[in-house]
Parts: sequence; structure tokens; C-alpha cells
Amino acid sequence: MVISMNIQPSFRRSRRMESMEISEIVRISERAGEMRREGHDIVSFGTGEPDFPTPVHVIEAAHSAAKAGQTRYTPTAGTAELRGEIAASYGLATNNVIVSTGAKQVLASAMMATLDPGDEVIIPTPYWTTYSDIVRMCEGKPVTIQCPMAVGFKLSPEALERAITPRTRWLMLNSPSNPSGAVYSAEEFRALAEVLDRYPHVWIISDEIYEHLSYGPCVSFAAENPALRDRTLIVNGVSKAWSMTGWRIGWGVGPQPLIAAMASVQGQITSGACSIAQAAALAAITGDKALLDERRENLRARRDRVVTIVNTMAGLQCPSPDGAFYVFPSCAALLSDAGGRFKSDADFCAWLLDVAGVAIVPGRAFGLPGHVRMSFAYSDAELSKGLTRIGEALERI
Ligand code: PLP
Repeated sequence: MVISMNIQPSFRRSRRMESMEISEIVRISERAGEMRREGHDIVSFGTGEPDFPTPVHVIEAAHSAAKAGQTRYTPTAGTAELRGEIAASYGLATNNVIVSTGAKQVLASAMMATLDPGDEVIIPTPYWTTYSDIVRMCEGKPVTIQCPMAVGFKLSPEALERAITPRTRWLMLNSPSNPSGAVYSAEEFRALAEVLDRYPHVWIISDEIYEHLSYGPCVSFAAENPALRDRTLIVNGVSKAWSMTGWRIGWGVGPQPLIAAMASVQGQITSGACSIAQAAALAAITGDKALLDERRENLRARRDRVVTIVNTMAGLQCPSPDGAFYVFPSCAALLSDAGGRFKSDADFCAWLLDVAGVAIVPGRAFGLPGHVRMSFAYSDAELSKGLTRIGEALERI
């Protein structure tokens, strides 16, 4: 018997999910996929993952773990070996660490474990799209603070202080940042910490997932501000540095009561991260780091090339990012407000996909319209092809 899955008159989304829309990044990559299936030659600079393969020794560790029978549920918060290794690297105890199904789940568990309806979360903008969506999904209120290109896409202590209210639960920091590549200095972090010292009800998320992809000095908010450690959650993982996005392993490091609350959430949602992927992540973080240096230098060369080329394109202004693998140029000069031909950054991206077959993401997806995000974690050949097409399309305007 064939049952139609399309006729479901009684289906309705929960109120919690009503405000959630399909993300702009997903929308663009779906459209790019559709065009590819129609036979178009599409270059995509849209996704947030490096083009390098997962290191061989990591794959071998996963294979060995599977063969050795590490195929059962692990403790909810992660294996003792992986949690212990992560804890030791921060000089903390195992129960300060939770291992989850990607850094994304760490963030989701933290929000689900701590937010009540209407609680506020301060999000410096531009931000990784998921931050505001997760907050809304947990019935919190994202409080975005515009941090434009003129201030290096970074939050100032004054702007932070203005945004804090009695309802503020969290400040989300992300350095190196997706999408801007901004990296906070120790002094900049300390200036923010001075404000936070005065507001003990505000907790801090320090998302350090791009830690190993910084082209200059990179400091950890928590390490720089030990006095705030008892209300800081560090978020990190293997996805980006070790090219392990599909293995889905991330972790949170923070005060024990918070970690325990997050483990309760995780226990009801996934029971814990994949046992084999945890063994792989352990091999990654205990393995030789020389490969990371090599890959970072490779990405640095791509960054320099992309920034130089984008800055020759009429209408785009591209600062050089200090970390991560995205450029976030301004396209303000191409918009109708400045006498240009596009209504918005999204309009520009849609046009680029149609006329040049290149997929990039509009800044409005990250809360800062007037920009576009392009990943440069692609092969030299792919970068050359895509950038040439963008340049030629812009010349035809
Ligand atoms: N944090 C930031 C800033 C990211 O850009 C991403 C992925 O794009 C993540 C967290 C999520 O990482 P994971 O793939 O481990 O869930």
C-alpha cells in the first residue's frame, strides 16, 4: 500500500518553531544544487568546511576503534579518555567537559539548559547564523549589536555595556569569527571582561572553533580572564581544524553545574556522541600538530590571493581576515542606496548565481547586510574559476 506523505492536514509547527526560517546559507546551496542538476557549471564558495581530507591517522583510529568493539553507547557526556584529554589541555577536571555531536550541539544544549522564555542573549553582529536561531528556538531573545567593518567587526566595551539588562543571560563571543574572520586581541578581551566583571549575572560563551585557523596571535577569552572562568563556557571541536565536519564531534568546557545541566539535555536528545567519532577525535587532538600548521599556511596563501583579487573588483571592498577561512567584503557600493544596481546584498548574490554561476552568501544571513561571505577553503583552480567569473560579471554591469 502506498501512503501519500504530502496530505497531513493536521500538521502544524510548534509556536517555538514558527519564527524559524530556512537559513539563507541552505537556501543558496539548495539553489546551487538545483542549477547543477539542471546541467549548469556552478562554483560554490558558500559552505563552511575546509576542502582538505580528514587526516589518515584519524581515519585509522576510527577503524581500529570499530574493530575493537567501541561500538556501544558511551557515557552521556563523552568517553573518559576524550573528556580527560580535553580537560587536561585546559588544566581542568573531566567533569568540566562535555563532548557533543558537533560544536553546534554544545551551543544548543547550553541554551536549552539555561534559557527561560524572554531571556536575552547578546550577539555581536555579524554572527554565525545559528547563534540567533538557536536562541530563538529555545525561546530566548537574541540581542544583536552591530559591529561594522569600520570597527573591525568587533564588539566594544561601551556597546556591550549598553546592551546588558537584568534579563541578559549570555554574551556570545566568537574569535576567530565566522563570517568576518576578526580575531580579538588580549587587550580587547580584557576590556570586555572589565565590563562583565560588573555584571555577574551575565555568562559568556567563547566559541573557539577556529582557534587553530588564525593567521596571527590568537588568545582564548577564558585563558585571558581567569576571574570569569566560573561563568564562561568554551566551545570548540575538531570540525574545522582537522577537516572533520562530518564526524560531528565538538565539546564544551565550563563550570561543572552547567556541564551537568547540558548533559541532562544531551541525555534526552542523543544519549551522547558517536563512539567511533569520539575515538577519532581523540586521535586528532593527541596527534602531531604539524599538519595543522601546514594547512593553515596553505589557507593563508589562499586568503592573501583572494583578498588581493577581490579588492581589484569594482564595488567590493575586502579587509583581510585574521582568522577562519572566509572573506567578508562590503558590497555597499553596488547597492541602490549608493546608486548601484542591486536592491540588497541578497539580490546581488542571486544575480551572481544566475549570471556567473557562483554561489556566495549575503551578509544579511549573518545579521550585517551590505556584505557577502565567500569561503576561500577551496582549491586554487576552483578559486581562480569562481573569482574570474565574479570579476567578469561585475565588469559587465
Ligand atoms: N561555531 C562556529 C562559529 C561555526 O562557524 C561552526 C560551523 O560552521 C560551528 C560552531 C559548528 O561546528 P560543528 O560542525 O562542530 O557543529
